[in-house]
Amino acid sequence: KVRVRFAPSPTGGLHLGGVRTVLFNYLFAKKHGGDFVLRIEDTDQSRYVEGAEKYIADCLAWCGLIPDESPAVGGQYAPYRQSERKVIYREYAERLVAQGHAYYAFDTPEELDAKRKEVPNFQYGHAHRSGLRNSLTLPLQEVETLLHNGTPHVIRIKMPDDETISFHDMIRGFVSFETAQVDDKVLLKADGMPTYHLAVVVDDYLMKISHAFRGEEWLPSAPVHLLLWEYLGWKADMPQWAHLPLILKPDGHGKLSKRDGARLGFPVYAMSWYDAKTDELTPGFRELGFLPEAFINLLAMLGWNDGTDQEIFTLDELVQKFSIERVSKAGAKFDFEKAKWYNAEWIKHASAEKLKVKVAEVLTAQGITINKEAYLLKIIDVVKDRCVLLADFYQQAGYFFRAPAEYDAASVIPKWNDAKNQFFAALKESFSLSAAFEPADLEARFKALAEEKGLKLGDVMLPFRIMLVGGKFGPHVFDIAALLGEGETLRRIDTALA
Ligand code: GLU
Repeated sequence: KVRVRFAPSPTGGLHLGGVRTVLFNYLFAKKHGGDFVLRIEDTDQSRYVEGAEKYIADCLAWCGLIPDESPAVGGQYAPYRQSERKVIYREYAERLVAQGHAYYAFDTPEELDAKRKEVPNFQYGHAHRSGLRNSLTLPLQEVETLLHNGTPHVIRIKMPDDETISFHDMIRGFVSFETAQVDDKVLLKADGMPTYHLAVVVDDYLMKISHAFRGEEWLPSAPVHLLLWEYLGWKADMPQWAHLPLILKPDGHGKLSKRDGARLGFPVYAMSWYDAKTDELTPGFRELGFLPEAFINLLAMLGWNDGTDQEIFTLDELVQKFSIERVSKAGAKFDFEKAKWYNAEWIKHASAEKLKVKVAEVLTAQGITINKEAYLLKIIDVVKDRCVLLADFYQQAGYFFRAPAEYDAASVIPKWNDAKNQFFAALKESFSLSAAFEPADLEARFKALAEEKGLKLGDVMLPFRIMLVGGKFGPHVFDIAALLGEGETLRRIDTALA
């Protein structure tokens, strides 16, 4: 059975790349009728950040990528938080030591620091093991005494001196590594917690993970993991690996990092993240006014396409069409303008019914009171084509609820004259005779009056728009007048002329 996992460390907000990893895992699982597991990798206590796990869960919920098994909902292989699985890992680390594939290392942090100063590019590995304090070099007796006395120690993997390790990556194809290049990674820390390397292998095995998709930054760790699968005797059950390409800065130079957002002027987090330690708020796509459907859609297109020109996909369509073979090896440049285009498309095609709650939030946050839902729905329908972000609904719909407080006077005043005054006075009268107060009738009355007064249509149409809206924007002006209704339209003309 297909079983995949998203295995974040709760260290902060979720970056675009992290959510794309979730998405690809999710799509693959659902496409193959499999399970999608959320596992929290919180074994590094020094990097643990309060609130990050909840943020991750909220973020998956916002995106609609709901795990089948997780710390919150549980599942057959619970617990799903590695810190709660602490007791499981030591046994495997000890087994590796007994087999001669791992060893105890007693070096203190100070000793290792001294070594790093002495040896440029120091790596704890075959070249330097002999000068260090570990169970490969110390006499057995001494090792036993150290262990007996409870001397703090870690367990490290013993990387083979000179082997080539290769595997097939679902995206990158054949990949190989020289073990001589890889250091003896710590598997179990002095505090008894496993490191990522040990925990990821043990848990992927115990949780019966069939496919593991993760960021390309983990590729260099793959040889360590492969050896662990082999040494623990689980090779036949090893998941198939896929290392997902990086998301690059817009100019293609390097990975889009968490710090790039502020400099480049767009969010890199899915949702805003507040860091209590630094009192810093990092903005997110959700808070900027992205629809989750658009966010998912644009992430899917970062490194994947279905081979056609289609760009807009619902989550269901993505589930049907996704294939890991079509994920590119090359990094995907992130283009914020294109990201906004996706959002605009999704807003345009969403029903007013679907948008109403979010739009109401935007408007009420600006102090607007919404009395009638039916009115809100009509307004959403006439303005949604003009909104790129949800927040744009304030600018584009606000005047339907609140008369303009200021006018774009520069566009009108220089060309104002008495003829226009007379026109608008007459317009009020004509409009008040309109029984239905509907766009076509209002337009016919407006045109007839302009002709009668010998005024060019454009010369009065723009001022009319500015009276109703405050500026030079918005849908067809007679649609606006009809929606505002007779009382409000006439009132706005009056206010503007006063
Ligand atoms: N805990 C790792 C991370 O935070 C997970 C990597 C993996 O999926 O194996 O990225």
